[in-house]
Amino acid sequence: MNQPPATTAALSGPDGQSRLIVRHALLLTLKPGEAPYQGHLIVGADGKIAAIGPGEPPAGATADRVLDVAGKLVAPGFVSAHSHLFQSPLRGLGADCTLFGWLDAINRLCAHTTPEDIYWFCLHGSLDFLRSGITTAYDFTYSGDLGGGQRSIGIGETTAGSTVNQEPYEEAQIRAKLDAGLRFIDSFSLVPLGTEEEIERRIQRVLAYASQFSTHPLFLKMAISGWVQRASGIESAHREVRFMRKYGLMNQAHFLESPERVPEQQAKFAWYRDAGALGPDFIFGHFIHTTPQIIRETAASGACMCWQPTSNGRLGSGTADIPTLRQAGIRIGIGLDDQSCSDLSDPFQNLRMALYSIRAKYQDASILSAAEVLHFHTLGAATILGIADKVGSLEAGKFADFLVVDPRHPDTGPVHDPLATYVLACGLRNLQQVYVAGELVAEGSTLTRHDESTVRREVDTRMARLQAARAAGILTATLN
Ligand SMILES: [Zn+2]
Repeated sequence: MNQPPATTAALSGPDGQSRLIVRHALLLTLKPGEAPYQGHLIVGADGKIAAIGPGEPPAGATADRVLDVAGKLVAPGFVSAHSHLFQSPLRGLGADCTLFGWLDAINRLCAHTTPEDIYWFCLHGSLDFLRSGITTAYDFTYSGDLGGGQRSIGIGETTAGSTVNQEPYEEAQIRAKLDAGLRFIDSFSLVPLGTEEEIERRIQRVLAYASQFSTHPLFLKMAISGWVQRASGIESAHREVRFMRKYGLMNQAHFLESPERVPEQQAKFAWYRDAGALGPDFIFGHFIHTTPQIIRETAASGACMCWQPTSNGRLGSGTADIPTLRQAGIRIGIGLDDQSCSDLSDPFQNLRMALYSIRAKYQDASILSAAEVLHFHTLGAATILGIADKVGSLEAGKFADFLVVDPRHPDTGPVHDPLATYVLACGLRNLQQVYVAGELVAEGSTLTRHDESTVRREVDTRMARLQAARAAGILTATLN
């Protein structure tokens, strides 16, 4: 590990006055090669880190606010490189099912949603991420079909007793994340599949909507959600590549997740390869049931993988062979997956699920380090998403998205190794404050900028309606 930096950079953002000075922090910057050190952090008026360094802030440094954290840990906000925020109110469903059984349980409720339902569900998920210390997410959005053939109610239709908001699903979810205050990549769903022209019209509509936020600091970029895992022919891979190239979009595809029909899934790797999809702007989500050849070709292409350890354990999907993927040179990030199959938005739990599953698989505690698994959920995740210049570590010029974690409250005992204590001994109970762009967004488990009772009421009311609709659908099916 290198020594802490000796000097600080400029003292304030471009507007002059700094937004915040953090003093007496035990900084886990997670900058590669930099060990934890006692220091300070200055947030500019633009919400970015203007300066960070050891010891006290330079004499004369001023800011709107000063936060003395009295030796607590200050670390970057977690990055979830793979999430489905709209599924937040669907936890506990399919509790003992593998992927497709669980998905069926989700589908039966989602089939009755309106875009406005999905807005509130996505807001619920985004706020829960923020409260849990996840400040940036790659979000697979919902377009009215989860690929099971059950369509949601479309734009302009009505449900019993209510008129559907005219705003489409995709736009509603962008709005929800902006309203929540979560930094995000918005991943466009290719289902419902339809014709290529129909999908492209949807893409163009969403890109036109998103373009108004192109300079918004929370909106990082658009992506597409690859769907070859559920497709029937290579044309689906060619279509994804055409959209990627034409609109300059990265692609994250769920792939080799389920332990069912593995040879059939593995054969589809050639579809992506032969269509020219693989490269640094392509991520395989899950990527559990790989073969040596798949790993070799993925590494050679520069494509990345995203690991969802809690979800993979909950659904019995398997354990991605991280040491082998890493050895091959594949870049790795971690996601929390959706809150319906991870159930608890806890990045600390996710870190330990990751670490322990691999150590147990290999019967070797040295096979994966605490530092590396933390890297996968922060800067590593940002790297595979192509946003490492903005988030993932605490460095001058990046967004001031950070967490204040107190390992002494509740008390975990003396801190011998700050990074090991952070990964192995801390949890949500130690997470005291969450900052996005130097602004406090959560204190303890309490959101500081939203009325949770409103969100809860909306979600509960809407979910009750969906449950009634599902029950009525089951009754109709029985009578028929
Ligand atoms: Zn997923």
